[in-house]
Amino acid sequence: MAADVVGRFAPSPSGYMHLGNLLSMLLAWLDCRRLGGELVFRMEDLDPARSKPVYIEALADDLRWLGLDWDRGWPDGAYAQSNRTALYAEAFDRLRTQGLVYPCFCTRAERLAAASAPHPGEAEFDRGCRCSHLDERERAALLSSGRPHAWKLRCPDRRITVVDGHYGVFTQNPARDVGDCIVRRADGVFAYQLAVSVDDMAMGVTRVVRGRDLLASAPRQQWLIETLGGTAPAYCHAPLITADGGKLSKRLGSLSTQTLRRTHTPEALVGKLAWMCGLTDSAAPVAAKELVAGFSWERVKTADIPLDLF
Ligand code: GLU
Repeated sequence: MAADVVGRFAPSPSGYMHLGNLLSMLLAWLDCRRLGGELVFRMEDLDPARSKPVYIEALADDLRWLGLDWDRGWPDGAYAQSNRTALYAEAFDRLRTQGLVYPCFCTRAERLAAASAPHPGEAEFDRGCRCSHLDERERAALLSSGRPHAWKLRCPDRRITVVDGHYGVFTQNPARDVGDCIVRRADGVFAYQLAVSVDDMAMGVTRVVRGRDLLASAPRQQWLIETLGGTAPAYCHAPLITADGGKLSKRLGSLSTQTLRRTHTPEALVGKLAWMCGLTDSAAPVAAKELVAGFSWERVKTADIPLDLF
């Protein structure tokens, strides 16, 4: 029988996890364990250029080291996005039949790294390029000319509301506020917004806990899942840890698990993370499982957390 509550870890193996990733993983784990749910571990290795075997191994090892377990998923290859292309293709075809995707011939679209989740400061969108307005003849001619093209999702031009479990009501008009997003890159790789929606749906995920920088993606994902005939999960975003006002990024090689594991025990690291986000009153070492019984989102801060606290 399917579990009532299904949470997930969905990291991208594009670098070693940093403190902010670890906080999101800890909160996703606590949320799921507190509710007695089932936890899925999905490897988001969509982008062949960015995903590295060394990071794939490290992700799973770091989670185990921290004491965060999961019930199904990686290393079962069925939970690696690189093996799930057929599912994305099927969803893509359905969207295409509904007229919800269109080819984009702009070179800019070819450059965008749309397979990765959009984190602040990264170009994700191409507001209103001409390709969305081509007439059918022009479009067909360009397609048959063999010109390289990405595929974009025609995002809804209406307000969509997500009731976030931690940040409350969040409303966005996807077409106006963020623009049409790429769902398939020019090199054929399916992109983040499509893959994550298809997977959360297919894996029966009912609760998505992740960093607040992805809150802006939640309305599109909720809409996509509903458009594909599924039920969207509840979204619950977590505060970010920031250094000098900016978000930590593993692509910049900030404080990574490689360093943290040399300088901390798992309990010392969990203790600091729990205290930094407001869950506990002191940064004393604690095992993750000891935090389950007392876990409540009401205790978790909503403001970003300065790295100085670490
Ligand atoms: N794999 C994405 C990332 O690491 C997160 C996806 C998600 O939680 O929706 O940025």
